[in-house]
Amino acid sequence: MISVVLPAYNESDNIEPAVSEISKALTDCSEDYELVFISDGSTDGTYEKIKKISETDQHVKGAEFSRNFGKEAAIFAGLSLSSGDAVIVMDCDLQHPVSALPEMIDKWRKGAEIVEGIKNSRGRESIFHKMSAGIFYGIMSRLIKIDMGSSSDFKLLDRKAVDALLELPESNTFFRALSFWIGFRSEKVYYDVEERRSGSSKWSTRGLINYAISNATSFSTLPLKLITTMGWIFIVFSVVLGIQTLIRFFMGTAADGFTTVILLLLIIGGLLMLSMGIAGHYIARIYEEVKGRPRFIIRDTTDDLVGNLKGQWK
Ligand code: UDP
Ligand code: MG
Repeated sequence: MISVVLPAYNESDNIEPAVSEISKALTDCSEDYELVFISDGSTDGTYEKIKKISETDQHVKGAEFSRNFGKEAAIFAGLSLSSGDAVIVMDCDLQHPVSALPEMIDKWRKGAEIVEGIKNSRGRESIFHKMSAGIFYGIMSRLIKIDMGSSSDFKLLDRKAVDALLELPESNTFFRALSFWIGFRSEKVYYDVEERRSGSSKWSTRGLINYAISNATSFSTLPLKLITTMGWIFIVFSVVLGIQTLIRFFMGTAADGFTTVILLLLIIGGLLMLSMGIAGHYIARIYEEVKGRPRFIIRDTTDDLVGNLKGQWK
């Protein structure tokens, strides 16, 4: 059986098209399937739509969060609730083309344990959005040594890979990078990002920046190491400057150092605060993890799905 996990936040107009198009594609692949919608605290009746459809279509299942917990939480809730031998994660605004599903399933049947959806093009986005995504993925790709620029959340995962992901103990997850981290045999499927069916993107620029920072720090300790490097550079610099200052003091020409002092104070003050900020950010992340709060709270599900919860999300 194949499960399709669809995070949905205020997507009431997209539920019906998603159900009919994905059902059609999967029926053509002659495979039993289930569609697991996770309504991420929607306020526009998305969950009611899902529930209604689930009454007549036994392939459709769904759960709703008690509030908006974010797409990452919705994806992991979906992975945890689904019970297929393979799980496909896709957006329910149908920007991830249904036409790529047969190829993904075919590659899985031939032995791939993870099938990555790779974007041919990023679709229509503002220049600012394109640039910031470029910078973010450039850094991320270097950190985890895998090209992330064209990767997306559109993936097929074999049950083995899903179980591995669900066993990870952290609550702050980054699906796109973690699915590389767990390894497994992976294949790629290329697709063109389609236009959103209806409604508008749920991401604000601020939301995206926060998402980028929190993912970069959850995946790498490089920023912390940079602080140490910066410290060493300053120590070398201070030895050179110290010797020069002492020489000038003994030669009696040390009076005019005021500009240098102000500049040094400003630079060091700025760098110190930045370093504390970076270190503080990691401490905040540790604090959040240590609290051990659940990543999401499920308010309601169509027939009892909660019993399906697997891994650390049980
Ligand atoms: N989404 C979600 N919770 C959120 C934001 C988005 O579940 O807080 C879902 C949304 O319903 C959609 C998918 O994540 O199915 C991608 O969101 P969106 O289309 O807004 O992002 P974009 O395609 O513009 O990157
Ligand atoms: Mg979208």
